[in-house]
Amino acid sequence: MATGELENFSCLLVDDDPFMLKALSKMLESIGIQGIIQTDNAQDALKYLANRNNHIDIVISDLNMPNMDGIQLLRHFGSLGMSFSVILVSGEDPRLLESVKSLGEQQKLNILGTLNKPVRKDDLEAMVKLHNPIGKQAPNGPAAMVFADELQRAIMNDELEVFFQPQVAIDDGHIVGIEALARWNHPEKGWIPPGIFIGIAEKYNMIGDLTDSIFQKSISEAAHLRSLGFDITVSVNFSAQVLCVLELPEILSETIQSSGLESSHVVIEVTESSLAQDMNITLDILTRMRLKGFGLSIDDFGTGFSSLEQLKQIPFTELKIDRSFVHQAAENRASRAILESSIDLAQKLNIECVAEGVETEADWKLVEELGCDIVQGYYTAKPMAARDFITWAKEYGLQRNVQDTTPK
Ligand SMILES: [Mg+2]
Repeated sequence: MATGELENFSCLLVDDDPFMLKALSKMLESIGIQGIIQTDNAQDALKYLANRNNHIDIVISDLNMPNMDGIQLLRHFGSLGMSFSVILVSGEDPRLLESVKSLGEQQKLNILGTLNKPVRKDDLEAMVKLHNPIGKQAPNGPAAMVFADELQRAIMNDELEVFFQPQVAIDDGHIVGIEALARWNHPEKGWIPPGIFIGIAEKYNMIGDLTDSIFQKSISEAAHLRSLGFDITVSVNFSAQVLCVLELPEILSETIQSSGLESSHVVIEVTESSLAQDMNITLDILTRMRLKGFGLSIDDFGTGFSSLEQLKQIPFTELKIDRSFVHQAAENRASRAILESSIDLAQKLNIECVAEGVETEADWKLVEELGCDIVQGYYTAKPMAARDFITWAKEYGLQRNVQDTTPK
C-alpha cells in the first residue's frame, strides 16, 4: 500500500491512560496518519461513532478500562454492525488478547490484530496497513449505520410504529392478549430490528421518550380494539432504565384513565435482567404498579439471573418463558428441562405462564403437554400492524371455529 493512503485514514484511540493516548497518537502521526481522535473511555468512543457525521477507519482500543471494558465495547460494535477495523491493545497476557480477538471475530468485526503494551511503532504500522479501505463494503443489512441522531429524530417525528403479536389461550385457542412491539421503518434503510434501536435508545438516554411514545400508541390501539369487542389485554415492554422513575405508576395510571381502558387490561413486561438494577426502587415501582391494578410480567424468563427470592418479593402476575427454551425444546434436553421447571414454577406461584417462540406444531404440543396457559409465536401469528389485527382475528376465529375470538 502506498503511504499516501495512510494520510487519509482516521483512527479513534480509546484508552484510559493519558500517557498511552499520547504515545499512540505520536506513533500514528509519525507514520503519516492525520485524522486522530482520542477518547479516554468507551462511552465517549461509542458516542463519537454513533454520530454519522464522523467517519472512522480504525478503532484502536485498550482492553482494561473502568466502566466499560474492551470486551463490552466490542459487543456494542458488534450489535451496531459498524464497518470499521479494530486493533486491540493490552498489557495483559497475549493469550487473553487472542481470546478477545476471536470473541470480536465471532461478532463479525474486522479485527486487524492485537498489540501488547508497550506498543512498538513498527508493529502498529504493519497492523494499520492491514486495513483495507477498498474492501470495506457498504453497510451490511439494516443493522448497520443506524445512528443515535437519526433515532432521536424518528422519536421526535413520531416515526416509530407499534406492531402487535397475538397471545392465545392454549386450552381453547381464544385470543387473550397482544404484545406491543416497537418497530422503526427507516426511510432509507428499511425495517430496523428493535434489538438494535432499543439498545441505542438505552445508551443515549432516549428510552424514556421511546417508551412513552410506544405506551401511548399501544394504549390507544388496545382501547380501540376493546371498543370493537375484543376482550384482550395489551402487554408493553419496559426497560430497566425506565423502572427507576418513581412517579412511573402515577404517570401510567393517568394515561390509562384518559383512554377508557382499565389498568387490569394492561400488562407491564419487565425483563429478568432489569431486576439486577437498584432493587429497592424497582420493587417500590413495581409494587405500586400492581396496587394500581396493572398486570406484571417477568419477561425473557430463564435468560437472566433472577432468584426465587426476587420472584417471591415482586408481585408478578405472569411468567413469560424466553423463546430460546421453547422453540425446538422437544429436541433439546436442556431447553426442555428449563421449560418444564419454569412452567412448574409458574403453577406453584399460581401465576399465568406464557410461552414465547411457539413456532411449530411440535412446540405447541410440548408446552400444552407441560401445562402452559398461553402461547405467543409464529405458529399462531407474527407481529402485525394494528390495522391488520382485526382481519387476522376474524380469519383466525373462522379457521379455529372459535366463536368468541370474533367480536360481533
Ligand atoms: Mg416482551
